[in-house]
Amino acid sequence: MRRIIVAANWKMNTTPADAGSLARTIGSRTREPGVIRVICPPYVCLAAVGDALRDGDVAATDGLGVEVGAQNVHHEPAGAYTGEVSAAMLDGLATWVIVGHSERRRDAGETDELIGRKLRAARAAGLRTILCVGEQLDERESGRAEAIVDAQLRGCLGGADLGALGLDGTGAGAVPWLTIAYEPVWAIGTGRTARGADAAAMAGAIRRTLIALGMPGGGEDVPVLYGGSVTSASIDEFLAEPSIDGALVGGASLKPDEMAGIVARAGMTAAARAGLDGTLAGDAPAMG
Ligand code: PEP
Repeated sequence: MRRIIVAANWKMNTTPADAGSLARTIGSRTREPGVIRVICPPYVCLAAVGDALRDGDVAATDGLGVEVGAQNVHHEPAGAYTGEVSAAMLDGLATWVIVGHSERRRDAGETDELIGRKLRAARAAGLRTILCVGEQLDERESGRAEAIVDAQLRGCLGGADLGALGLDGTGAGAVPWLTIAYEPVWAIGTGRTARGADAAAMAGAIRRTLIALGMPGGGEDVPVLYGGSVTSASIDEFLAEPSIDGALVGGASLKPDEMAGIVARAGMTAAARAGLDGTLAGDAPAMG
């Protein structure tokens, strides 16, 4: 059974002075068993958020705490890369990282090939990686959305020996190192969302590409999240789809009320899927 994941992308918001208290508030209001919660603040807030989340009050009733993620990572381990942060530098600060976010593709000119290098650097450092993919509006409207996402995945993952990268921790309840976030670019920060059925169709297409690329387990163990203007009002549409395993949340993730609503619904989905699977919702996941 794939775990349900709600990841918060705070983008370029919060400061070291206020990030810890926001993280603690969100953590203590989202204590649903069976849901993996990840907060991805700006680099400079990682330490403050990590410290705040060590507080026992934020652990869910299944003992799971809130995990911390970075929003980006450099592809090289060290060197003359002014202003950059390597995967090794995140040791002790983050256990997850987002790569390939459309805002970085747009603003920093990141290509699939570069994102693939970041992904492998993150993997080598033992970070769980959320790889973002998604089409532009004109690409969806012209019926090319699945082809675009297929090409992005091949560009990011195709050069890698996925068999050698492995998945780690596969099996019931495990969280593999790779998670894919399907984020249609036209839905990010716009208040527009994809339809649940379209996101589910894309999740199926993503897993077909992973199979074609030789992903161990055929990609069935890889969680696929939806991202794009998710709120507590829209999350149900996505979690109702068995192929969608949670959400990457941007704007709404800065609002504790919204996060409480989103994770509450994710908790219901986790419990329902665990019931179908014959396992207890409160089983602690194996973190490979
Ligand atoms: C994101 O940043 O990944 C995102 C989906 O943002 P928003 O929820 O604001 O659309």
